[in-house]
Amino acid sequence: MKRRIILLGPPGSGKGTVAARLQHEFGWSHVSSGHMLRREEESGSALGKRLRRFLEAGELVPDEIVLQVMETWLKGAPLERGFMLDGFPRTLAQARTLDEWLLPKKSPVEVVLLYDCDFAVILGRITGRQSCPACGRAYHARTSPPKVAGQCDDCGIALVQRSDDSAAVTRKRFEIYSRQTEPLVDYYRCQGKLTVLDA
Ligand code: AMP
Repeated sequence: MKRRIILLGPPGSGKGTVAARLQHEFGWSHVSSGHMLRREEESGSALGKRLRRFLEAGELVPDEIVLQVMETWLKGAPLERGFMLDGFPRTLAQARTLDEWLLPKKSPVEVVLLYDCDFAVILGRITGRQSCPACGRAYHARTSPPKVAGQCDDCGIALVQRSDDSAAVTRKRFEIYSRQTEPLVDYYRCQGKLTVLDA
């Protein structure tokens, strides 16, 4: 079975939701760069302060910062147990660096799943998204609402909407995806690793 997996696709294509379920049910490791960057930002570190404005604007965090955060993950990651990378890599430079990191460890990426999805569908999904600030559980106001509106089923805590989940920021993130991340589709197709899913 293929265990080192990249989940590729625009924000809101469902890759994070599926990965979280697979982690919950099978214990596969779900590695979300967005989650790690937000944690770094919340820690108040110097690095976190530098990346705040990119997160808030829905823009890509510069490669140099993302690679620093992801290298820290890689150093402690049990690669033989596999991973589902969600949100990383997002640029060609990141993809090439990841390949360089994994090569000497003889643990190359094995498969890249492309979550193919239209912008109109994404807009509906993202603007209804809510999550629990404590456990990270994700909800959707229309398609998977909590039992009590605005409250986490597990923790009872008030749900939050990410500041970058507005319609304007969603449109911008989709454009950034088309421009900067879509080239990865050809990059991995050329490596013979791409599988396209109708998301
Ligand atoms: P996500 O949770 O994957 O949608 O990521 C949330 C935000 O984190 C993005 O809008 C970017 O600002 C930042 N981010 C996450 N992963 C990356 C990455 N690989 N490269 C650059 N920025 C990223």
